[in-house]
Amino acid sequence: MFIYLNSKLVPSAEAKVSVFDHGFLYGDGIYETMRVYDGVVFLIDEHLKRLRRSASLIGLDIPKNDADIKGAVYDTLMANSFNDAYVRLTVSRGYGDIGLDPDLCKEPTFIVIAEKFKPYPRSYYEAGIRLIIAAVRRNLKQALDPQIKSLNFLNNILAKIEAKRTDANEAVMLNAAGHLAEGTVSNVFFVKDSVLCTPSVECGILDGITRTLVTGLAVKNGIHVWEGEFTPEYLYSASEVFITNSTMEIMPVNSVDAVHFKIGETAKLLLTKYRQEVNAYVREKKGEAPSLWE
Ligand code: PLP
Repeated sequence: MFIYLNSKLVPSAEAKVSVFDHGFLYGDGIYETMRVYDGVVFLIDEHLKRLRRSASLIGLDIPKNDADIKGAVYDTLMANSFNDAYVRLTVSRGYGDIGLDPDLCKEPTFIVIAEKFKPYPRSYYEAGIRLIIAAVRRNLKQALDPQIKSLNFLNNILAKIEAKRTDANEAVMLNAAGHLAEGTVSNVFFVKDSVLCTPSVECGILDGITRTLVTGLAVKNGIHVWEGEFTPEYLYSASEVFITNSTMEIMPVNSVDAVHFKIGETAKLLLTKYRQEVNAYVREKKGEAPSLWE
């Protein structure tokens, strides 16, 4: 397998980063996760825009323009002959002496990892997955804003450990005020009284690219959307629940803690519409993306 490291592709065994990299020492860096369908990176421009927003929020200059980054991503996919894949773009503060001062690092470390896409079990989409509400709260946005998709993921990992302890697939975190925030790697949606509800960005969440697409698709299809502040009781009394992210798309939920839910029509409809959107995007962009099979 080949990894893109800084300015070139290297075999994965040679893809090594210094122990003095501030990404390793302090979680000082940012990343994006994207899904590749039929050789096309879905919504790459939106992901690059969010990568730059994260970079700007931590005062990091990415030493590459968008065309260079897209080139690196497609070079990595082609080197590995991956057509349906998962891509992770990481930019850390880089190598520097020990110490928090970002100026200790002269050059960010830039990494593209691609992996063949491993589909989630079909049963997840058919029967739904299990969620818990975690005891650990989402980072306070005034402390470490969840809109920064940072390499420091311990907050989410602590919630994931809680989910694993109870055999749940995902944990939803509340914010410091006790309102729903988001999953460890996902955004949360639920339907109540025919309204599609999801925590607003003000609740302290990452504004998922899938979340934005899904709310837009809901509105286009005549579904009323409410982005607001919700207590867990609101979620418990929903008629259906689902979560979203770039790799799982729209995943139905069959239980949150001890409360059970039916797989609802809204998630099914939106997943169909989502996949139509993906197909249209792939058809449109296919000519632009270098073919893996030339
Ligand atoms: N929230 C968090 C904390 C995440 O890590 C992710 C994705 O990894 C999401 C939400 C969903 O974001 P997206 O839809 O852009 O993949």
